[in-house]
Amino acid sequence: MDGTYLIRTFGCQMNEHDSERIAGLLMADGMRAVDEVESARVIVLNTCAIRENADNKLYGNLGHLKPAKLANPELRIVVSGCLAQKDQGEIQRRAPWVDVVVGTHALPHLLELLRRSERDGPQMDVREHTETFPSALPAVRLDAFRAWVSISPGCDNACTFCIVPLVRGPQRSRSVGDILAEVRGLAARGVVEVTLLGQNVNTYGRDVSDAGSSRTPLFAELLRQVGRVDGIRRVRFTSPHPHDFTPDVIDAMAETPAVCEHIHFPLQSGSDDVLRRMRRSYRRERYLGWLERIREAIPAIAVSTDIIVGFPGESDLDFSQTLEAVDAARFDSAYMFQYSPRPGTRAASFDEQVPKPVVQERFDRLVELQERISTEAGAALVGETVEVLVEGGDRKGRSTRSRTRTNRIVHLADRLDPGSFHEARIVAAAAHHLTGELVPAPAASTS
Ligand code: SAM
Ligand code: SF4
Repeated sequence: MDGTYLIRTFGCQMNEHDSERIAGLLMADGMRAVDEVESARVIVLNTCAIRENADNKLYGNLGHLKPAKLANPELRIVVSGCLAQKDQGEIQRRAPWVDVVVGTHALPHLLELLRRSERDGPQMDVREHTETFPSALPAVRLDAFRAWVSISPGCDNACTFCIVPLVRGPQRSRSVGDILAEVRGLAARGVVEVTLLGQNVNTYGRDVSDAGSSRTPLFAELLRQVGRVDGIRRVRFTSPHPHDFTPDVIDAMAETPAVCEHIHFPLQSGSDDVLRRMRRSYRRERYLGWLERIREAIPAIAVSTDIIVGFPGESDLDFSQTLEAVDAARFDSAYMFQYSPRPGTRAASFDEQVPKPVVQERFDRLVELQERISTEAGAALVGETVEVLVEGGDRKGRSTRSRTRTNRIVHLADRLDPGSFHEARIVAAAAHHLTGELVPAPAASTS
């Protein structure tokens, strides 16, 4: 297909990564990326379904695109991703100007669907199973120096609030060989940081066997092997599920120099009763026990988390237990969400949905507490010298945004090349970022 494309991505890193694959497919077909709706021949909205406002965003965006489609019937509008899988025919019923709806398992068929839409009108493919692993598709990486690597898309859990298993299907692990080949290929192209992606990385491998044996590959071993790939200086992963967390992962993190001192460890709630109703099969004390062990083994580690406020039936007591857990855990950062009922999930039909004003008030209190803890954790770093990897300029191009191994953003006044490593002394801290000064590299000895 000749022409230009524009991709808008909503949601998590998995979606960002799928967008890289979509861009790869379109580019391999001779298209090039543009930034403006007006100059695009194909517009892809790669959607997220995790919370209700994601639905609203999609239909809002489609409303804005209608005049463009009316003015230019050649324009192809594609809706892909989790909402495409969830809403299926509803999308073209509500927005008949959408040319292609492509679900999470049908991505490899995107080009064929686009061609068919030119010939035969609107197309939809929301098949339930993936035939080609997404990693077999070409990808256009957003960065030249860091990359996401999908290790096990899908999820076998059934957390009662979560739509992911419905729209992404069961977990399907890639083979270790396939993952390592991708990481080596990335390193050969100059990538220095990889993030391994899975909904529950701890159960990586349960559904495959190692090449030539009947043994199940383990996540801890995968971490060690990825950490040994020449040229890869930083390895990250997201997310481990506290229920399936095992000590061998802590050992692998502590013993593999490339694995960064950061873990995203989703708590969801500090109330055992709420955790039970969420079908999260760990309890608060077990969770906090894991944190203690992780911090003992890796003292410099930073911990981030996900928390949901206002799960159905959450009482004042339950919420106060979440505040206590957050206080005890001292997370460096947290993604905090107001519970959003998702059609098709068990919790959506639970009694006792918490009224919006109550949820908002609890949410504000939680954010206030976490911001204080994040600021204090950042302040503890002032005066320290840390390794940073430069990500790019700030939006106004005046300074540099870089990242520590512990996943904290550091702003530097100097203009530095994206992908370069430096030492920086931390001089100030706020809840969501640090400010640093470059520490000059020691001059080479002349004697
Ligand atoms: N697999 C990850 C795990 O088990 O922790 C989570 C993946 S999900 C894409 C990211 C986060 O979205 C979850 O950890 C949860 O906090 C939040 N989330 C999921 N469903 C939600 C809902 N219905 N309402 C509010 N937040 C939700
Ligand atoms: Fe959703 Fe639970 Fe699976 Fe995470 S582990 S993706 S929260 S069902």
